[in-house]
Amino acid sequence: MAEYKGVMIFGEVREGKLAAVTTELLGCGRNLADALGQELYCLLVGNDITSLAGEAIAYGADRVYVVDTPPMKDYDTDLYLSVSEKVARQVMPCIVLFGQTAIGRDLGPCLAFRLGTAISTDCVELAIEPGSKLLLQTKPVYGDNARATFTCESYPQMATVRARVMSSPERDGSREGQIINVEASLDAPSVRTKVIKRVVEESTGIKLEDANVVVCGGRGIGSAEGFKKLEKLAEILKGAVGASRPPCDNGWVSNSLLVGLTGKIIAPDLYIAVALSGSSQHMTGCSGARNIVAINKDPEANIFKEATLGIIGDWEELLPVFTNKIEELMAGRKKDR
Ligand SMILES: Cc1cc2nc3c(=O)[nH]c(=O)nc-3n(C[C@H](O)[C@H](O)[C@H](O)COP(=O)(O)OP(=O)(O)OC[C@H]3O[C@@H](n4cnc5c(N)ncnc54)[C@H](O)[C@@H]3O)c2cc1C
Repeated sequence: MAEYKGVMIFGEVREGKLAAVTTELLGCGRNLADALGQELYCLLVGNDITSLAGEAIAYGADRVYVVDTPPMKDYDTDLYLSVSEKVARQVMPCIVLFGQTAIGRDLGPCLAFRLGTAISTDCVELAIEPGSKLLLQTKPVYGDNARATFTCESYPQMATVRARVMSSPERDGSREGQIINVEASLDAPSVRTKVIKRVVEESTGIKLEDANVVVCGGRGIGSAEGFKKLEKLAEILKGAVGASRPPCDNGWVSNSLLVGLTGKIIAPDLYIAVALSGSSQHMTGCSGARNIVAINKDPEANIFKEATLGIIGDWEELLPVFTNKIEELMAGRKKDR
């Protein structure tokens, strides 16, 4: 539809910087905007975030819409929805993209509903169909056993995009763009929720979603104590620990380590799956891993169908040998440098 123009991405800020998923979206949005011969917009909502607008331009945006005001400090569905709707109605982009993050999963569908359109969640590939110029939205389906490509004929065309499936573009500080400050004009009665308390979970080391190496344990690990051994391997590999559903449900590890359909969707270079069976709900969270190494005592375990390398045996016997060997190899690499 001719009145809808441009690609808009919803930018997220983490620890005072553009989130990695945001720079990835800027790269993907740039390609789509170029394929359409249109502009790329970025919407930034928060408090004390105006300085990041230049960053969004350096990563590919032509125009950045900034809503910078203290009430937007913490994510709140009603507040963020009201400003996102306002900007989307004003700008009329033909494509709107969110990251497949906690915020994107919540805000994206709400905004789609408000705008009377559809949304494809958890996309892993986006492209413009040359003839129709529609957005081709590709996502895993049937528990990640197949991929389907969708188009949407209502506007804007909306999608959430899985983190780490697209690479961030090179930062180009010489790029120029326009920064537009938007008044939030908050409608107090429409805000039905408020943040009472913020609890930041203490974590050390690399975050699961940012790690290049993930050592993931399943029910077969058997205890919180067992997970300490996985932590040691993860530490040597400068990676993070993840878990399947049972270790989280049993309280051996925090729920924030859950990988899968209802947990985090990650795409590390190396995924070491220890004593987990490889259920479809779990594999949804890690099928984007470039290499999967599996340790399982059951030769029939589904994880072996998914693994690049499989080791059949008891993890308690194998892991110390594996960890020692890796420690040795890593130490050798350090000496060689
Ligand atoms: C709607 C829905 C959503 C879900 N979402 C998720 C999700 O997001 N993430 C998720 O993980 N699950 C999810 N689940 C649960 C999922 O279906 C599986 O039940 C779960 O993934 C199984 O976890 P597991 O592989 O650790 O355990 P199991 O399937 O019990 O597998 C344990 C494995 O450990 C092996 N093993 C045991 N002892 C040893 C040993 N000493 N050495 C080596 N190997 C050993 C066994 O051979 C077995 O293969 C979901 C389920 C539903 C219905």
